[in-house]
Amino acid sequence: MSLKQEKFYITTAIDYVNAYPHLGHLYEKVCADIIARWNRLVGRDVYFLTGTDENAAKNERAAKEAGLEVKEFIDRNAKRFQELCKAFNISNDDFIRTTEDRHRKVSQLIFAKMFENGDIYKSSYSGLYCYGCEEYKTEKDLVDGKCPEHGTEPEHIEEECYFFKLSKYEKPVLELIERNRFIIPEKRKQEILARIKTEGLKDLAVSRSRISWGVNVPFDPKHKIYVWVDALVNYVSALGYPDGEKYKKYWPADVHLIGKGINWFHSIIWPAILLSCGIPLPKHILVHGYITIGGEKLSKSRGAAVDPFKLLEKYEVDAVRYFLARDIPFFEDGDFTEKALVERVNGELVGNIGNFIHRTLTLIWNLYAGEVPEPRNYESDEECINLVESIRKLPSIMRDRFENYEIDKALKEVADFAIRCNRFLQVKEPWKTKDPDALFICVNAVRTLAIVLRPYLPSSSEKIWRILNLEGLPEDYGWDSAGGLAIKPGHRVSRPAIVFKKIK
Ligand SMILES: [Zn+2]
Repeated sequence: MSLKQEKFYITTAIDYVNAYPHLGHLYEKVCADIIARWNRLVGRDVYFLTGTDENAAKNERAAKEAGLEVKEFIDRNAKRFQELCKAFNISNDDFIRTTEDRHRKVSQLIFAKMFENGDIYKSSYSGLYCYGCEEYKTEKDLVDGKCPEHGTEPEHIEEECYFFKLSKYEKPVLELIERNRFIIPEKRKQEILARIKTEGLKDLAVSRSRISWGVNVPFDPKHKIYVWVDALVNYVSALGYPDGEKYKKYWPADVHLIGKGINWFHSIIWPAILLSCGIPLPKHILVHGYITIGGEKLSKSRGAAVDPFKLLEKYEVDAVRYFLARDIPFFEDGDFTEKALVERVNGELVGNIGNFIHRTLTLIWNLYAGEVPEPRNYESDEECINLVESIRKLPSIMRDRFENYEIDKALKEVADFAIRCNRFLQVKEPWKTKDPDALFICVNAVRTLAIVLRPYLPSSSEKIWRILNLEGLPEDYGWDSAGGLAIKPGHRVSRPAIVFKKIK
């Protein structure tokens, strides 16, 4: 009877370690974590990868400024990214660092394969180079002569280097992109298509000779592999390409989750590299927007970065996760302010969702000494029928949202559901009537909340589960079980406890 479990491989971009993590890094990890956890709840065999991009030449500069050896510097910063994952309850299965041997040797292997397949040739290149992007720039990429991403002037450099025949792959890559839902959302796909139309795919300089930090070109160690080519390889090196069990099991990736600034690399260059090596292509490039802070761009150079660890001195992990998932529109840019966080958490998470949970448990304790009452005839009461119907439908409504990666909208469905639950209590007034039907349905609605909040707020979900005195964890029952009335009359719940604390 058991069908082969469907696999789901999700990756985040790997982060540069030239600075400590900021809120933008956290946002991407939280979103990937929500998607990963949801897929586990629906029964998929999930593999979730994140990591750090450590072979960039700009690490040399940054290390010098910090007065450290490069290795010492990147170790320190990479550790900070790993701590970020732990601190915010990110459920990644692996954390790849591109300075690890397991990565470097695959990076060289891929480069050698591209060469053997006739896709790498030597030539010389001169042009403007942004060290922040690790990318050559043309005049039209610049705004007032500066990189729009970094606000710095690119430097003119000239070097002999190896080129990758990206132009050769224009047709198959274009076909891939035109395919439905390779790039999500549609407007990011249109941006890429427009760029292909205007500039086409030009051969890409894929080695650097003027730098000492990086991975050697395997057949010419005077050259380092272009850091972007090296970085992209992490998605297969972490799985043990070409022979690893994990590679065989999880590749191709189902989702590469990235920010909009690196879409070209993922939607054009990465597929071309894979095509050159005869490696199957990923299924979706999922592109989220950027976070601004109080309207300002989140980059250290502009002094508007928020340190996610600082947030934890004031707010609970799940409060931050809730805000990020709920208030930042997943496919658009969104703004972060502490004021907005406090309002969202106090108004909605505490005042709506938490309030309903606490009222329900308190009523069951006050009126029935903690024992779920036997319902009488809720099937003939319209209010009851409606709420039971809401419980039944919520998982499938949210499933539709999740299948489209609308994680912000899926969470709004939860908030709306809690509003209906609170209204139901107001109408039924069980504190006056002791209405057992109402309490029987409400305690089951609390169970629904514990399950549907599981991807977003893993530790709060577990707390709710404990307060309900249920066995195991939500994942033991699965996503669709959120739609049922699984708590039976006579079940004893634990004493009510505050799940979501009001921020003062
Ligand atoms: Zn730049």
